[in-house]
Amino acid sequence: MISLSEVHDVALRFLGSHDQRYTANRRLIVQALAMADAPLTIDGVTETEPMLALSSTYRNLAVLEEAGVVHRIVTSDDHARFELTEDVTGAHHHHLVCTDCGLVLDVTLPDELEDLLHQSLEAAAKENSFAGAHHRIDLIGLCQSCKP
Ligand SMILES: [Zn+2]
Ligand SMILES: [Zn+2]
Ligand SMILES: [Zn+2]
Repeated sequence: MISLSEVHDVALRFLGSHDQRYTANRRLIVQALAMADAPLTIDGVTETEPMLALSSTYRNLAVLEEAGVVHRIVTSDDHARFELTEDVTGAHHHHLVCTDCGLVLDVTLPDELEDLLHQSLEAAAKENSFAGAHHRIDLIGLCQSCKP
């Protein structure tokens, strides 16, 4: 498990290579995402760090996304979820996405299954001359509170 100070170091490096500064507000956003146990909406970020204003957080999340620090998870509603990228955390995982309320949960698969997935997808990539491929697989369904 990567520490918060390591997360900040990586974020600083990624932003630097995109000619962006690691401002106090961007640090707070990264901290909120690092401490959360599930991907957060913008509201979730500003509730965690009440010092943050909604409008600047929106812009800063876009900058962090551009720099590869933050990953935006597309849901069926207007409330996109944000989390730190796997390049920052080094922790590979998948998502359960609720099509009704937009809830996103992180899930991990057994290592053997990830190896198998990786091999199969790598073969498919090679067949189509794709280099440096990685996978993202999200499960779409209804969460506990939304299921009928
Ligand atoms: Zn739901
Ligand atoms: Zn996630
Ligand atoms: Zn996987």
